[in-house]
Amino acid sequence: MKLSKLYMPTLREVSADVEVASHKLLLRGAFIRKSASGIYTYLPLGYKVVKKIEKIVREEMDRAGSQEILMSAIQPREIWDASGRWDRFGPEMFKLKDRNDREFCLGPTAEEYFTTLIKDEVKSYKQLPLNLYQIQTKYRDEKRPRFGINRAREFSMKDAYSFDTSPETMEISYMEMYRAYERIFNRLNLDYKVVEGDSGAMGGNKSHEFIALAETGEGEIAYSPSGKYAATSEKAKVTYKLPGEQELKELKEVATPDLKTIEDVTKFLGIEKNRSLKAIDLMVEGKPVIVFIPGDRELNMSKLEGYLGVPEHDIELMTEEDILSINSSAGYTGPIGLDKSVRLIFDNAVTKIQNLSIGANKEGYHIINANYGRDFSGEVCEDLLEVRKGDIIEETGEEYLFARGIEVGNIFQLGTKYSEALNATYLDVNGKEKLIWMGSYGVGVTRTVSAIVEQNYDEDGIIWPMSVAPYQAIITVVNNKDEEQMSLGEKMYEELINLGVEVLLDDRNERAGVKFKDRDLIGIPLRVTVGKKAGEEVIEYSNRKDKEKVEMTSEESIKKIL
Ligand code: ATP
Ligand code: MG
Ligand code: MG
Ligand code: MG
Repeated sequence: MKLSKLYMPTLREVSADVEVASHKLLLRGAFIRKSASGIYTYLPLGYKVVKKIEKIVREEMDRAGSQEILMSAIQPREIWDASGRWDRFGPEMFKLKDRNDREFCLGPTAEEYFTTLIKDEVKSYKQLPLNLYQIQTKYRDEKRPRFGINRAREFSMKDAYSFDTSPETMEISYMEMYRAYERIFNRLNLDYKVVEGDSGAMGGNKSHEFIALAETGEGEIAYSPSGKYAATSEKAKVTYKLPGEQELKELKEVATPDLKTIEDVTKFLGIEKNRSLKAIDLMVEGKPVIVFIPGDRELNMSKLEGYLGVPEHDIELMTEEDILSINSSAGYTGPIGLDKSVRLIFDNAVTKIQNLSIGANKEGYHIINANYGRDFSGEVCEDLLEVRKGDIIEETGEEYLFARGIEVGNIFQLGTKYSEALNATYLDVNGKEKLIWMGSYGVGVTRTVSAIVEQNYDEDGIIWPMSVAPYQAIITVVNNKDEEQMSLGEKMYEELINLGVEVLLDDRNERAGVKFKDRDLIGIPLRVTVGKKAGEEVIEYSNRKDKEKVEMTSEESIKKIL
């Protein structure tokens, strides 16, 4: 491609609200343009990078035996009603109606859609296991779109779904995807950590997140120096103690008021606004429900996801109205959560109290800031507790290390949650009908672009790793009015193209300084500068990373590029 023709409107400045390097450099280097909050256009260079990432993702998914399909971005409401996620997804879901008032959403993910696709046609154990994927635009009306394409409202995701006959084979499919993800992120040259997601606190789900390390990342991870242990900091496991028999008995004696309003709930739990209690997780009719306490609107969803061990979109945020409607819903009339299972989530502690009626504010009883030893004691069991700096990993005696990062991939064991909701079954060897075991696997394709930039830039611009660079090489003709320079530049350009190199030729009628600045900014790995010695077929060769210039013949430089 010749730069005189390339649509590459680079920028000197970007608006002041652009916070992180990747966002800034992708805008300045003419990779992306904003069209609305969280909605972006990919310009020629940017789209090339996206396609490079897609190619690597495709190759590794195909290698792992997954098959690519393409489903619509528009999904009918009914399948989301079946799983209960039409409501549960809440305001993050873009919803729309057609001219006949039929309701749809713009898919934020596609567990229901894929399950619906296969359920009538997969009938026998002989057709399983099956793994399907797509690379497709996803829509999430994020509460806080930020960092450009990092947290967008429209973004490209590779999503895959595995279908198996048993939990054991589901585990195998899951590990195959785990390995495929390692290969993908290795090939993308990312410095990343695979961290444990939830540990099965709610429904036995297992998950791993692939976190590209970056100071500006929104997620925090905790890991052990030996590498034996890594988890999102909220999900890190430590030993925790539950109330003992006597304490349970005493706590049970506390009055259990009838909860009618959100004030009742907050009073009941002894919550003051802005105190440490973040959310209350209740089981209502066997289903996890999260009570969202007003006054704490800044609830960190990914943190909450970690606490509860369920994907964010499975967490129900409730308003006062919701609470009232649950209170009066058929078959359940008692105060919320009582004689069900109650888990209180504190800033720095998780208390799991089962089959217990609790009351707060009775003298000597503390629900808020309940401390082991002071408020209760008991047998040792494992639970989820946020890890703090200085905490020791019991198994290894090491102190946790912490790092920040960007979630570029997430894999989940789903079990039978969606097959049950959508009635996806198969007949086993004995002709017995059984539920299909599923997994789901996401890669944030466009978010990965920004994660790569966060790890690869300097004060002059982006430094693309070769595997995703929009072009591998760039030839800069210092003076495009000089015939010798232009003809050597063109000759090398043709030669490199014929050799299969993706190459740019900067033949623009611009000052050399502008060309050099742009070349640094857009981060092409290998560079040839054709200048005064063009007549002798001598050029200057350098690479973007160290910029060290070496004079050599044009032939020598072509050999180097290959
Ligand atoms: P986050 O915690 O950042 O909100 P998520 O856990 O909600 O992400 P998943 O449902 O696990 O996201 O989706 C799979 C992948 O899609 C994520 O790992 C991430 O790489 C990507 N992704 C999710 N939300 C966005 C977004 N708003 N913009 C760009 N990529 C996204
Ligand atoms: Mg997440
Ligand atoms: Mg999210
Ligand atoms: Mg995730």
